[in-house]
Amino acid sequence: MKKYDVIIVGAGPGGIYAAYEIAHKSALSVAVFESGHALSGRKCPIDGKKIKSCIGCKTCSIMSGFGGAGAFSDGKYNITNDFGGTLYEHIGKERAIELMRYVDDINMKHGGEGTKMYSTSGTALRKVCMQNKLTLLSAQVRHLGTDINYKVLGNLYDDLKERVDFYFDTPVTDVEVSDGGYTVLAGDETYTCEKCIVSVGRSGSKSLEHLCEKLQIPTKSNRVDIGVRVEIPAAIFEHITDELYESKIVYRTEKFEDSVRTFCMNPHGIVVNENTNGIITVNGHSFENPAKKTENTNFALLVAKHFSEPFKESNAYGESIAKLSNMLGGGVIVQRFGDLERGRRSTEKRIAEGTIRPTLNATPGDLSLVLPKRILDGIIEMLHALDKIAPGTANDDTLLYGVEVKFYNMEVDVDDHLMTRYPGLYMIGDGSGVTHSLSHASAAGVFVADEIIGE
Ligand SMILES: Cc1cc2nc3c(=O)[nH]c(=O)nc-3n(C[C@H](O)[C@H](O)[C@H](O)COP(=O)(O)OP(=O)(O)OC[C@H]3O[C@@H](n4cnc5c(N)ncnc54)[C@H](O)[C@@H]3O)c2cc1C
Repeated sequence: MKKYDVIIVGAGPGGIYAAYEIAHKSALSVAVFESGHALSGRKCPIDGKKIKSCIGCKTCSIMSGFGGAGAFSDGKYNITNDFGGTLYEHIGKERAIELMRYVDDINMKHGGEGTKMYSTSGTALRKVCMQNKLTLLSAQVRHLGTDINYKVLGNLYDDLKERVDFYFDTPVTDVEVSDGGYTVLAGDETYTCEKCIVSVGRSGSKSLEHLCEKLQIPTKSNRVDIGVRVEIPAAIFEHITDELYESKIVYRTEKFEDSVRTFCMNPHGIVVNENTNGIITVNGHSFENPAKKTENTNFALLVAKHFSEPFKESNAYGESIAKLSNMLGGGVIVQRFGDLERGRRSTEKRIAEGTIRPTLNATPGDLSLVLPKRILDGIIEMLHALDKIAPGTANDDTLLYGVEVKFYNMEVDVDDHLMTRYPGLYMIGDGSGVTHSLSHASAAGVFVADEIIGE
């Protein structure tokens, strides 16, 4: 039975930055177990030619492996307490921001130098938003871009591989409480440790749920965000994206007083499929490399759905809606905004006649058959509101891809040290429900590492 001082489950941002901090600031022995592949082995088989859609690999290379769910992401590190998680509720606003900046410094030392930091402070857009019933959230955003983000991860791995034992393709199947520590079952082996950090992200949500149930760690779950990904000519949003890159704008609908928000903006980017537990949803990427830039900008419009007792299956609700789009479209559905407003489906012909070239090969269809009316009405209202600050957003040819679902992991009951009711057992990152972003998950990793090493 191999012994470590610290075992980390999951090599996403939460796990990586925890390992980095411990390895650089202490002599503790650390092992990281990851159900996915090493970074170099992560390759989604979809090539757009031979394999056009998801074939359901045993471990999804987009969501799992060194770098976690964010490895092929746009690498936007938002330094803010306004969105991306509620880490500040546990560790305080100042410390949360301090740690996000600390992570940014690490990224800059590992290949990120030269990338741009955007900020909403002092922008004239805030007033324009207010004048149009929109609210611009405050943030600084470091945009690494997909290619630099990947490079930073590669450099972090090179930095850590001699200091930390990495076990790839090795899912942890159980964690048991043992005398003075924890026993971790991974592959066919058993390992022990004094401290255990569980950072399994969204893809590990089901196994984490079972673990919490087994160890009687309280959890709650009541939110899912549902919506579409909007694709428009980049020129329409250029005055916003050139200045801020990523703007989080919130709109309160007149009809239902629901909040609709923009999410994950990708100037000159591409729309991509995302596979969550076999369900295909939509997401977006953009690239730093000018050669990879497209003519389009994409962003999500999401409506938050909160449920109250007795319903607890908020993610299952989101999954059912995504499944419906998969059933009708065989994957993601794309529709022109003009077709949606006229109550007709989009067809290959109508899309081809439009002025926007889709960057994702999705099935033309009718999103009104998929999305609940209240959510769809909210999205339509917000597109018209955005049209006032970026004329052209609500044009007929604007493309809507559905569905985009933002699943929230159940919230694990952790204290202000991000520790469960078991001393030395930490649950962090998106898996814990406390974070929903690269910056917050990474900061949480550094935070628990500092707790462990007494920094
Ligand atoms: C396409 C895409 C784009 C995104 N873009 C951005 C962005 O630009 N900015 C942003 O802030 N956020 C973005 N996100 C979200 C961001 O990636 C996540 O918030 C972040 O990765 C969470 O980090 P984490 O460490 O908590 O979990 P994850 O990154 O999900 O990592 C968890 C890891 O644990 C592993 N694991 C799960 N179960 C087990 C187990 N039982 N045993 C061993 N290993 C296990 C998984 O394989 C995974 O690698 C994006 C997400 C996606 C999918």
